[in-house]
Amino acid sequence: MIEGCLSLPEVQVNVQRSDRLYVKSYDVKGRKKQFELTGLWARVVQHETDHLDGILICDHSENMQMETALKD
Ligand SMILES: [Zn+2]
Repeated sequence: MIEGCLSLPEVQVNVQRSDRLYVKSYDVKGRKKQFELTGLWARVVQHETDHLDGILICDHSENMQMETALKD
């Protein structure tokens, strides 16, 4: 799916991601949570987790010049 990012507002990249996730996390009160995500929410969590790991959408492209599209 083509993704954009507020960190790179002029860039869109085709990013391949898993369609289904099983997430283990903690809420703001420190309670352990486990849940499954699919579709767009699975994509959003993978995108944001990439940010925590210092990865941007451009890092998913082997050839940025070919896959980058400027908005309008
Ligand atoms: Zn982003």
